[in-house]
Parts: sequence; C-alpha cells; structure tokens
Amino acid sequence: MRAEPRAVPGERGPRARVVNAPILEARELHCVFEVSAGFMRPRRPLRAVNGVDLRLGKGESLGLVGESGCGKTTVAMMLLGLISPSGGEVTMDGEPMAGLDQREISRRIQPIFQDPYSSLNPRKTVAEIISLPLRVHKLGGPAEWRSQVTEIMDLVGLSQRYANNLPNQLSGGQRQRVAIARALVMRPEVVICDEPTSSLDVSVQSQILNLLLDLQRELGLTYLLISHNLAVVEHMATRVAVMYLGRIVEEALTEELFRNPRHPYTQALLASVLTPEPGLGVPDTHLGAAFPNPIEPPSGCTFHPRCPHVMPACSAVAPIPVTHESTTLVECHLFSEARTAAGPDTVPQQVEDEARPAAAGIGGAA
Ligand code: SF4
Repeated sequence: MRAEPRAVPGERGPRARVVNAPILEARELHCVFEVSAGFMRPRRPLRAVNGVDLRLGKGESLGLVGESGCGKTTVAMMLLGLISPSGGEVTMDGEPMAGLDQREISRRIQPIFQDPYSSLNPRKTVAEIISLPLRVHKLGGPAEWRSQVTEIMDLVGLSQRYANNLPNQLSGGQRQRVAIARALVMRPEVVICDEPTSSLDVSVQSQILNLLLDLQRELGLTYLLISHNLAVVEHMATRVAVMYLGRIVEEALTEELFRNPRHPYTQALLASVLTPEPGLGVPDTHLGAAFPNPIEPPSGCTFHPRCPHVMPACSAVAPIPVTHESTTLVECHLFSEARTAAGPDTVPQQVEDEARPAAAGIGGAA
C-alpha cells in the first residue's frame, strides 16, 4: 500500500547525512552531453546529471536507485574518473579527483559491471583477466601475480581449476566471481557495483550478493550500489539515494526510506514492486505520463507532469533539498516548512526566493 505523503517540519541547510568520514564525495556534480537535434540543426545540451551531491562514508553501502536514463551510471562514470564532470567536483579523502592520476584513482576505486560476459575479454584465461590490473600497474612480477590470483580466487569462492579456463567455459555466476576478483585484486577501498546481479539467474543472484557482503566485512570495502532492483538495494545498502532526471530527490537510511518514503517519486518506485500474490496484477504506480525527454526537461519540479500530488506552483518553481532529522533529505514542495505554514497548493514567497530558478542552467558548467 502506498504511504500518503505528509508535510514534516524540515530544516534547511546542508544535505542530510549520517555517514562515517567520507572517502568519496561529489559536490554539485553536473554532466552535460551535446547531442544531435537532427539534420542541419545545432546540437542541443542534454543534462544527464544536474547538480548531484553525494557522500560515501568509509565502510558503508550507498544504494543509488532510479529509472533507466535518470543519470545513475553517468554519476558512477564520473566517480570512477572515466568522464570529466561539466561542473562541480569529486573529491577522494578531501583531495580533488581532477588532480589525481587515473592510475591512482583506479587503484583505489574499482567497478563491477552489469554483464560479466561482455566485461571480460573472451580470449584471455581467468588467471590472465584477474592479474591484468597488477600487470598494468606493474605491481610485482609473475610469481607475485600467480600468488595474488590464487589468493583472490579463494576469496571469491572460485576453484583453482578454473584458472586456465576462458570466460565462455564458465557459468554466469562464475563469470561474475571473476569480475569481482579482478576488481578486488588491487585491494581497492571503494567498489562501484553497477547492477551487479541483474544479468544473472535468480538462483545465483543471492550467492553473489552475499559474497559481496562477506567481502565488504572481510576487506572493509565501501560500496556504491547502483540498481533498479529495490529488493537488492534493501538487502545490501545502509543508505539509499533516489535519483530522478539527473537529481537526487530523496536520500535516507535504508530502513527509514522503505518504511516511510516521502517523495512522491520514491513512493511510486516502491509501489511499482510486483507482489507475489496471484491475481493482484501489475501494480498501478499512479505515474501517468512517461519518463520525460531529458533534452527538454519539464519546468519547475521536473517530476510535476507525473506527480499525483502536483500543485499549481510545482511547474513554476523548482524545489530545494530539505533535510529532516539529519538523516533524510527530500526535494519536494510538500516538505517545505514554509509551505506548511502558508497552506496548501501554493509555494510561498520564502520558497520562491530560496528555490533554484525553474529550469535553471548549470551555473558555469561547460
Ligand atoms: Fe510533486 Fe510538486 Fe513535490 Fe514535485 S514538488 S514531487 S510536483 S508535489
């Protein structure tokens, strides 16, 4: 059953956080792609990420959820240093990532991708794939590489007899274990898991998720877990950030977010989970219109064409993030303290003054 939104006393200020000392931090992150608008037409900006703030505390698992095309993977690529932000910055232990060598970044942050088959070189053996980062970074020699491969294969539960196999001789679960071993062989501090189980059989998914949890405990890893599977996020993450059209619209501790989703979009996401009860059919998310075109985002709150609680002012004024009890952040006029005082269906002057201008540019982004 969908929880009804309710106005809560909010506190304006820094974004809601309950984290250990941040190891990775994104501030006002923007990413703009210039895309073709058709023959003989000027290219147009597509704002894939539009002012994202994220802090990843040491040892935690942050889940990043949202529909396809909302910008989750673009955020991950910027955190990995694979795409340069158009605006804002990423810091690692307080040091701007722009000043770090790409090898240094890849030694400390590693990805695990969605499809283990396409992310593994089909012509290399398991041992060659796992040892590749060590060889690229010139860490040790052949004897050291062999011992590291043996050790990491044991750690991820991969039998030594597969060391000389090619990826196509392995099952999907074994291939994902190889991808995890390759990511961990350099002993990174942060692992960015982009839909790590979505291409696996259901029976294998829980094995891989439990393996990731065991490895986190054993190696003190920090995870950013990108997924559209809310069950995976609930199982793995300690905090969850919900992304919509390039922005974080709600962020909370996992238990709090699943118990009391505040933003109408989060409520719709949770309501969209299929129930195992026969006869209930496909749930109605009350979302109405389809996901908007990111090249022409809606004015004001970009969720307003789909929002079941839309107010007249929502299309004119973009909401700003409001923190609540220091653990939850929500970006919606329903949770504005000023609106609560002014009454329904309006966005009072205080909000208008403080709000981001509707359809604002990215302020200095290239
Ligand atoms: Fe819905 Fe308005 Fe809140 Fe946007 S600001 S989510 S349109 S109620």
